[in-house]
Amino acid sequence: MKISVIGTGYVGLVAGTCFAETGNDVICVDIDEKKVRMLRKAKSPIYEPGLEELIKKNIHEKRLTFTTDIEQAVRKTEVIFLALPTPPMEDGSADLKHVLGVAQIIGKSMNGYKVIVNKSTVPVGTSDRVREAVSKYSKHEFDVVSNPEFLKEGAAVMDFLKPDRIVVGTRSPKAISIMQDLYGPFIRTGNPVIVMDERSSELTKYAANSMLATKISFMNEIANLCERVGADVDMVRKGVGSDPRVGQQFLFAGVGYGGSCFPKDVSALVKTSKDYKYDFKILNAVMDVNKNQRMLFTKKILSHFNKKLSKKHIAVWGLSFKPNTDDMREAPSIMIIKELLKYGATVHAHDPVANEEAKKHFGSSIKYYHNNYDAVKGADALVVVTEWNEFRRPDFERMKKLMRNCVIFDGRNIYNPQVLREMGFTYFSIGRETVND
Ligand code: NAD
Repeated sequence: MKISVIGTGYVGLVAGTCFAETGNDVICVDIDEKKVRMLRKAKSPIYEPGLEELIKKNIHEKRLTFTTDIEQAVRKTEVIFLALPTPPMEDGSADLKHVLGVAQIIGKSMNGYKVIVNKSTVPVGTSDRVREAVSKYSKHEFDVVSNPEFLKEGAAVMDFLKPDRIVVGTRSPKAISIMQDLYGPFIRTGNPVIVMDERSSELTKYAANSMLATKISFMNEIANLCERVGADVDMVRKGVGSDPRVGQQFLFAGVGYGGSCFPKDVSALVKTSKDYKYDFKILNAVMDVNKNQRMLFTKKILSHFNKKLSKKHIAVWGLSFKPNTDDMREAPSIMIIKELLKYGATVHAHDPVANEEAKKHFGSSIKYYHNNYDAVKGADALVVVTEWNEFRRPDFERMKKLMRNCVIFDGRNIYNPQVLREMGFTYFSIGRETVND
């Protein structure tokens, strides 16, 4: 099949590359010329495990090309995916200017039947708006499909190649058949293509992300209660998660959710609810709890130092919003580090892949290290913000020798309080006992 993917970011680049990998001819389009130049040289502009190898391979096989020319890509392909940003506006709603702007260009460039497939996360009713925008400029036949994406950054390639399910929102039998064909290779083990109407499909994506965000905020509240009643949130998590109705995933207490999706999708769903005069009470609480969770963690650090952080050297491990990605969008590290700087701390940070991306947020106000041990040299405390695997079993003896004060604030509960007690550390985590020397 001849496919174009408009928007070559985390979703578009992974989708385009994986469609090429299954034998389709794919044109990836982006307005960012620098990105397109890099991609033509088979260099991935984002860090995503396994992606660059697949890009290289499919460019070599001549199934994957990159361009800034949308019009030509539209004319040359029958299936057009939109993987464009839908960032939050001030009132929480999703900004559709990219999606609707591109829909107009598609309308103007059509030269025959097209399936326009929307992978961006968009509010209920967007398929209708895309249809209107296209039909305003084109007399050609076309279908609009809502096909929300469920991949996880950090495991995006695997998620795309082996999805749990594919949601397809359209009433057009022709479009359903094309989508089933296209996705056939990814669901050979029997995972379903769930076909539904467009509105249900659009809402499914928001409901899924909001449900996951709710689980995180719920467990963070349980953790906060654990600290007051002297319980251990890790034990509670194991006890609760072993019930298959609850499940083990998304039950880890921490500094709250971040990233490009959960924060914006929860607030967009609240905004949609408001537009339809519905007060979505749970989601308002989910957002409040999440914001508060970062503050509570930062307060622990501030109160340990009696808010006197000038001349204190704080090491931070992990800057990206979660492990295995360089994505810093809405990363908890941003607010935490800004608070530390506000109180006069010197911040020495290390992230395995996000140092460069972090410079866009912190510039030269913090120091960046390529090695986690270099970051803790002379530190008065270590703050763990992102649970990269390489931080899970550090050489504590080495750290004791390097740090000025053996204090750890663990925002992800990756260490065992007992072990740190024996090693002589002062150790703060979330919803568990505090270890004081
Ligand atoms: P992104 O910001 O990484 O990528 C978007 C790309 O679109 C950028 O490269 C940008 O330059 C390009 N672009 C912007 N305007 C354009 C235009 N007019 N023409 C061509 N290209 C244009 O975004 P993303 O993370 O890939 O997310 C895209 C959509 O998918 C969003 O709606 C997001 O909510 C949704 N989504 C994201 C994820 C995720 O994990 N990142 C998962 C599921 C769904």
